[in-house]
Amino acid sequence: MADVNLLVAGAGGGIVAALRAQELGLSVAVIDANEHFLRANNTAMSTAMIPGAGSLFQNEAGVEDSPEIFAEDVRYKTKGRANPVVTDALSRISAPLVEWLAGSLKLPLELVTDFEYPGHTRHRCHTVPGRHGTILLGMLHRVARERGIDIVVPARLVAARHQDDALVAVTEAPDGTTEEISCDALVLATNGFGADAALVAEHIPEIAGAVYHGSEASRGDALSIGRTFGAAVDCLDAYQGHGALSLSSILVGWATVMHGGFIVNTSGGRFADETQGYSEFAALELTQPDHRAFIIFDQRIHDACLAFEDFRQTKASGVLRQGDSAAELAGRLNLPAGRLEASFAQAAAGRRGATDPHGRSRWGDADLAAPFYGVEVRPALFHTQGGLAVDAAARVLDAAGEPIAGLYAAGGAAVGMSGRGADGYLAGNGLLAALGLSFIAAEDVGRRLAGR
Ligand SMILES: Cc1cc2nc3c(=O)[nH]c(=O)nc-3n(C[C@H](O)[C@H](O)[C@H](O)COP(=O)(O)OP(=O)(O)OC[C@H]3O[C@@H](n4cnc5c(N)ncnc54)[C@H](O)[C@@H]3O)c2cc1C
Repeated sequence: MADVNLLVAGAGGGIVAALRAQELGLSVAVIDANEHFLRANNTAMSTAMIPGAGSLFQNEAGVEDSPEIFAEDVRYKTKGRANPVVTDALSRISAPLVEWLAGSLKLPLELVTDFEYPGHTRHRCHTVPGRHGTILLGMLHRVARERGIDIVVPARLVAARHQDDALVAVTEAPDGTTEEISCDALVLATNGFGADAALVAEHIPEIAGAVYHGSEASRGDALSIGRTFGAAVDCLDAYQGHGALSLSSILVGWATVMHGGFIVNTSGGRFADETQGYSEFAALELTQPDHRAFIIFDQRIHDACLAFEDFRQTKASGVLRQGDSAAELAGRLNLPAGRLEASFAQAAAGRRGATDPHGRSRWGDADLAAPFYGVEVRPALFHTQGGLAVDAAARVLDAAGEPIAGLYAAGGAAVGMSGRGADGYLAGNGLLAALGLSFIAAEDVGRRLAGR
């Protein structure tokens, strides 16, 4: 008999697999390589946006949505290049997932309706008050603690193998001592390979020059362990970049743009349609002089963004610059005043319906009005979105497309729903792949063991 029914490697989104599996009556254990995971992993670093298409929260807010509409948004944003099986599975589970988080785990979720995220045709991102991953992950782990789920740290999964009907996971402590845990099923929830510069340069050269702003534990362990089982991989060039990381390494947030702000380079001029998406904007910023860019907004946008913990911290870090006119702001940011004034004029004309030279059509609810704000940002890589090939039950597939017995993958360890490159990423689809595939994996293990 195995030590546990389900072993989860990675206590970020993977904690959902343990929580759900335990509800289904399975014995569970969780290991994590980093004892500081509650602050240091990507789930903790995130803005805590989780899409749920057709959720009760949407119904209450009068938002009409469905898994089909969501999947269509994904197909459109990814230009049809997202893994269709995973896209459908995650679109379908998204509403039950957020309802389970709110209902069974009692998380105080709310639907974000104060602005639109690029690519989502409906308000469908759900979040916790404060809108920060540390809050979300802290809540998930508080429930796990209350329910007696042990998290073994620091214990890095370094290998796994089949033995009889079970899997044996080999874990390693920082002093090099190893232990073996046998399990009926293993969920690889160890995230992607963003922290491994060589792997990033190999699979995603376009973003290799950006700052990496994600978990240092994302070293591609799932890929290397999966390969020992003959696992297939999919969409390894997919990633989430971000064009709004401040010089204090805190996220300014794309709400600045979606509320009507714009982005200029060191010449003071705009260079692209900012509303196309923050992920692809990182690679665009990398093409600008010295890789430098500045988000420009006003008091109305500033006040609206205070709903975000990240924005509040950006402000507290002292990197925002303010000016009572475009020229004064240009002086504070060291930008040519004439070009920056021309960019303000472009934004005002765009709001009045003039054709924008960069193709932008959405300019927020009101004209920008003084006082104005500006903040320097640098292009960043947040996480990779490709990984082990999985089916609709989160089972890892081999090169022939057959499931590998007992092996599951979730989150950055698995292929997500972001297609190829950067431009397929929709807000929330990282956490949805993390929490959603974990949930799906637990349900599949529950079904499989119930039938045994
Ligand atoms: C700044 C930022 C903002 C973001 N905002 C959002 C957002 O609002 N919405 C959204 O959907 N996505 C967002 N993302 C992306 C999202 O955070 C990730 O897609 C998601 O959290 C990945 O979850 P995960 O469980 O795969 O990885 P993680 O949360 O990183 O968890 C993986 C865990 O595995 C551990 N680990 C690694 N290797 C091993 C090993 N060999 N053995 C044991 N443990 C191991 C790590 O220590 C870590 O704790 C954001 C990312 C960043 C960086």
